[in-house]
Amino acid sequence: MSSDQFQHHLRRVAISSRGADIDATLLPLRLDPKHTAILLDIDGTLAPVILHPERTRIPAPTMSLLRRLHVEYRLLGIITGRRALDARHIVGLDIDYTGNHGLERLTPHAAKTVLDASVGAWRDRVRTVFEQHCGPDLAARGVGIEDKEFVLTLRWRGASDLAAAQAAVFAVGEVAKKAGLVVQPGRGSIEIRPPVDVDKGTALRRVVDDNPQIRHVLYAGDELGDVSALRALDALRRSGRLQSVVRVGVASDQVPDAILRNADLVVRGPRGVQRLLKRLHKPVKAVPPRTL
Ligand SMILES: [Mg+2]
Repeated sequence: MSSDQFQHHLRRVAISSRGADIDATLLPLRLDPKHTAILLDIDGTLAPVILHPERTRIPAPTMSLLRRLHVEYRLLGIITGRRALDARHIVGLDIDYTGNHGLERLTPHAAKTVLDASVGAWRDRVRTVFEQHCGPDLAARGVGIEDKEFVLTLRWRGASDLAAAQAAVFAVGEVAKKAGLVVQPGRGSIEIRPPVDVDKGTALRRVVDDNPQIRHVLYAGDELGDVSALRALDALRRSGRLQSVVRVGVASDQVPDAILRNADLVVRGPRGVQRLLKRLHKPVKAVPPRTL
């Protein structure tokens, strides 16, 4: 994104971050919390994106708000590119977790993750790419390798020689494509995954389908992988399945245009999300009766 475009987006952020705008947008959810689901991404949304994702922590004030919202609203859930168990470890609440961009799900009280039925057939190909092409040579180039069993994330972000690390990652990406796998770009990274029709959008629909009492949904995300969830919300509203939706784009200097184009509200980074969650928690003020 050019500097001009980013400034434009920041202006939009400033406008949409006004309290009155946010409160008006959130009102249908706050008036009907027992029929509302709040679904959130983790990295770049609840927690800042950091060089070593294994050290990610959700800030304490955000955690405190999540605990309250978990009690106040019908459903609190996470939809993330991380493994579902990893997400539950980070958040630490017994809520609904969808991991690996929709390929796995860990529902409240469940002991085990449930895999999407389409994944099994592709697992061996992912393992072969990992075992044959993600060894010490790649790590020596400063590439971060995250093995999520049937999905691989390779990061050149943070390498001392960015160009060399990126080239090494792209070379593995080419091997993966030849093996029939999908290579999805991320922030200074790629994700290698099975070519199945599963994404955060299908994940969000599944959560809604499994909870027929849900009438309102808020989703917040910051990356290209979140756009499918924002679009799914729009489709669910248009079809009449949901009465109201709030699509929240989380802006950073690397936010994809598609996030901003598909958002009803734009907030700045995890701090902005924290402020938004605070407003979701805020009780709706009773309007005093008019005196005649
Ligand atoms: Mg994210």
